Amino acid sequence: MSKEYDVLIIGGGPAGLTAGLYAGRSMLTTRLFEKELIGGQASITDIIENYPGFPEGITGFELAEKMREQAQKFEVEIDLSEVTSVDLSGALKKVTTPDGEYVAKSIIITSGVRPSKLEVPGAAALTGRGISYCATCDGPFFRDKRVMVIGGGNSAVEEAIYLTKFASQVTIVHRRDELRAEKIVQERAFKNEKIDFLLDSVLSRVSGENSVASVAVKNVKTDEEMEVAVDGIFVFVGNLPNTELFDGMLDLDGSGYIITDDTLMASVPGVFAAGDVRKNNLKQVVWAAAEGALAAVSAEKFIESQE
Ligand code: NAP
Repeated sequence: MSKEYDVLIIGGGPAGLTAGLYAGRSMLTTRLFEKELIGGQASITDIIENYPGFPEGITGFELAEKMREQAQKFEVEIDLSEVTSVDLSGALKKVTTPDGEYVAKSIIITSGVRPSKLEVPGAAALTGRGISYCATCDGPFFRDKRVMVIGGGNSAVEEAIYLTKFASQVTIVHRRDELRAEKIVQERAFKNEKIDFLLDSVLSRVSGENSVASVAVKNVKTDEEMEVAVDGIFVFVGNLPNTELFDGMLDLDGSGYIITDDTLMASVPGVFAAGDVRKNNLKQVVWAAAEGALAAVSAEKFIESQE
């Protein structure tokens, strides 16, 4: 027997938790599924300093905990399991997890993104053996060691700065001669004596027996290659949307992000998307939270319109 709700939310990052808060506070029966980390990608960010209300900044973990607590205060059920399939075809949308089946009048998809992998020879075998996608998780293992950060966006540059707490040297390897990160973040990195840069450069190989020992770095303008000894590699080369579950069911853009209308309704009535998984113009916690709120309000209106 399926358990019935007003709203099911897939994904427990800032968008999902805020959608839960709004849905719960509107007295809609709501269940939220999260397969990994409450808070999503934001929860593994060291300091978030551009979410209003926290002038000193707040750790991603603390902010996620506060959001979880606030959603649960309004009786959102948080289910730490993986959604293995969905059926969006009927009036009641169905979600299946290893523990059960759930149906609801509306679904809000807030499944976020996951990091793109470093695709160079040697990288797959050394992932978890010196190659990491999470500085807050693995940074402390690299005390007084030399690490590289791959990428030039906000994640790469902010996490490089964080890693200087532990590492003796942090080299940012970026494929262009200009970073993509916000200027304020770039300035901090430029001023940090532990950070140096290899610009116009990409990794062409990672080497090491049981753990990372060195990398080949290629200058993309001159094609020159050099071998550099490193102990760790932190990869921040962008993200991929977690939309495989909805393949063929919802309209996605060319990169796999969910396309919605202004109310955040996807191409199937009653299905909404919010946050990083949606095709939008700003990937920020404040924006994800705002979209979560809008998706919940839109879901409520949709449910009322069906009654
Ligand atoms: P991002 O902004 O997409 O940056 C990815 C970086 O990786 C870019 O510099 C890109 O180079 C590089 N890259 C992509 N593919 C590559 C490849 N195959 N080989 C080498 N380099 C590659 O990703 P992000 O930094 O994870 O950020 C994602 C979103 O979250 C952004 O919108 C960002 O602003 C936001 N964010 C915000 C904050 C904050 O507000 N404090 C913190 C973290 C993230 P190019 O520059 O040449 O494309």
